Amino acid sequence: MSDAVPRRVSVLGATGSIGTSTLDVIARHPGRYRVHALTAHRSREALLALCRVHAPALAVLDREVDAAWLRERLHEAGLATEVRCGPEALVEVSEAPEVDVVMAAIVGAAGLLPTLASVRAGKRVLLANKEALVMSGALFMEAVGRSGATLLPIDSEHNAIYQCLPVEHRGGLARHGVTQLLLTASGGPFRGWTAGDLAAVTPAQACAHPNWTMGRKISVDSATLMNKGLELIEACWLFDARPDQVKVVVHPQSVIHSMAAYSDGSVLAQLGNPDMRTPIAYGLAWPERIDAGVAALDLFEVARLDFEPPDEVAFPCLRLAREAMAEGGTAPAVLNAANEVAVEAFLAGRLGFAGIGELVARVRDACPVEPAGELAGILDADARARKEAVACLTRR
Ligand code: NAD
Ligand code: MG
Repeated sequence: MSDAVPRRVSVLGATGSIGTSTLDVIARHPGRYRVHALTAHRSREALLALCRVHAPALAVLDREVDAAWLRERLHEAGLATEVRCGPEALVEVSEAPEVDVVMAAIVGAAGLLPTLASVRAGKRVLLANKEALVMSGALFMEAVGRSGATLLPIDSEHNAIYQCLPVEHRGGLARHGVTQLLLTASGGPFRGWTAGDLAAVTPAQACAHPNWTMGRKISVDSATLMNKGLELIEACWLFDARPDQVKVVVHPQSVIHSMAAYSDGSVLAQLGNPDMRTPIAYGLAWPERIDAGVAALDLFEVARLDFEPPDEVAFPCLRLAREAMAEGGTAPAVLNAANEVAVEAFLAGRLGFAGIGELVARVRDACPVEPAGELAGILDADARARKEAVACLTRR
């Protein structure tokens, strides 16, 4: 493999937390991977810096004004990187025939179309953008089956479960003797807090995660436990599980990244230091293993592993997500859209922490569930839920 032609990788969301960790792993294996495209939303300076290091064939930004700025700087630097802009360009670099691997690391619903394009084009898809799968689960997994894409979960919990399951695990968990998936959760920065304690929480507190450094949206999701709710939905689709087969276990040390329980009483776990470069390296190299730059786990330093049930009273978002998955159709897309609007409002200081779950519940009650067999219907549900969420925010 190492003396083969380098695999060409498009990194969607290259300037983010997952994007930069991906490029860190890639840079450790120059003969093995070549960067084809790097994309970012507005952060043009950060994208320029990455282009200087990785010299991609293409770079993508959202707006032409930023693309023009980047073109100019790249030209001055003598780099041949072509710069494009807009959502169509994201799709292009996700499905281009010269691309082998797509790291889907855009945050939120904005990643749905390019991620789906990479799936439909049969790429090796490294899925960090859980919102894309939450929104379009059935359609997404059908597209994987049809195109033969290799879908590898990057979310640390799902990557752990993937490692604990047999290589061929399609067709339902029971077929493989798996009785339960144990999805671990750190509990976030407010573990043990009561609903009363949570009333005055600030964005800065919510973004200070005890174990992981991540983008702001997923940090808030971790604090509300919506992240675990989205992950529960993600696990159901990835592993063909029912919501009642996925059990959330709070494990504050974040050393066990998740587990699979089997009918003979065995429980398989994947452990490691909390560093996203481990699942990223796993996805890049699968079925081989490569150096990720992550220090070996020192169990004497860890010393103990604790477990407790999640508090679904103080953190209602987990329950809301489980209910949305059980309801099916467009319910998870509505949940996701409402949550994206709520988190943005919280980060902007326009909504309190407890208001996030309240807004998601209100939008759910106002949006009828439709079948989610077509992309147009999913996008429509997403748009209507956002509109309803904004209306709820202004009515308050
Ligand atoms: P981040 O905010 O650090 O980075 C997001 C990236 O997406 C940036 O490059 C940004 O420019 C780009 N982006 C944002 N909005 C966009 C838009 N509208 N159009 C195009 N590009 C856009 O986020 P992150 O923490 O790296 O998370 C990325 C995804 O990975 C999320 O779905 C998150 O849930 C998932 N994930 C992250 C972690 C982690 O440790 N950070 C772990 C598991 C899963
Ligand atoms: Mg996770």
